[in-house]
Amino acid sequence: MLEEIIQRIEKARLSVNEHLIVKLIAVSKYVDASAIEQLYNQGQRAFGENKVQDMYSKAQQLSDLPIEWHFIGNLQKNKINKLLSLEPFMIQSINSVDLAKAIDKRTTKPMRCLLEINSANEVSKHGVMAQEAVDVYHQILQECPNIRLQGVMTIGAHTDNQKEIIKSFELTYKIFEQLRPHGAKVCSMGMSNDFELAIKCGSNMVRIGSALFR
Ligand SMILES: *Cc1c(COP(=O)(O)O)cnc(C)c1O
Repeated sequence: MLEEIIQRIEKARLSVNEHLIVKLIAVSKYVDASAIEQLYNQGQRAFGENKVQDMYSKAQQLSDLPIEWHFIGNLQKNKINKLLSLEPFMIQSINSVDLAKAIDKRTTKPMRCLLEINSANEVSKHGVMAQEAVDVYHQILQECPNIRLQGVMTIGAHTDNQKEIIKSFELTYKIFEQLRPHGAKVCSMGMSNDFELAIKCGSNMVRIGSALFR
């Protein structure tokens, strides 16, 4: 399964540019610690969780493995301390200046973060609107010295219409390009059903759950 996904990522990235490097985040929210350990034993190091409590219990059970944890879910302010106590590698879901400030205040070390963009303009989704993303990014850079903003994250449009999905990825990539001169390195987009499309639109980080674990 992992092998097959890696090959599909490889094929998609080579169709764009042989120098494009795409990182795989295995989204383990559907599975328990033993399934994570299995994938770890196959060589996967980066895992993503969308709930603080789940990441907490899995990270505790797997504390002897040097796993790189990525938080990808909506973060409530009252869970920030618990999340920070796990020393995650990255928080991908910064969706407001307010949240960035709250993390900035509580963290004792610089924290790698991505700004989440609501690229399909869906009310059901978190993330800043595309029109305000660049301004919000700059405001966080200026006002949050402990937040190491490294790029953007988005969830593609929730539809079967490929054109709509591509539109949301292209919009996110355009924002990413604007932010590159300001230190943005990561463009995190693409999930089980759309990661090849996302890579073709410039993604260099894919977050894949069900295709790996189901
Ligand atoms: C669940 C989730 C994923 C993975 O989704 P799959 O469709 O299972 O691959 C990626 N990103 C976020 C933010 C998620 O919540």
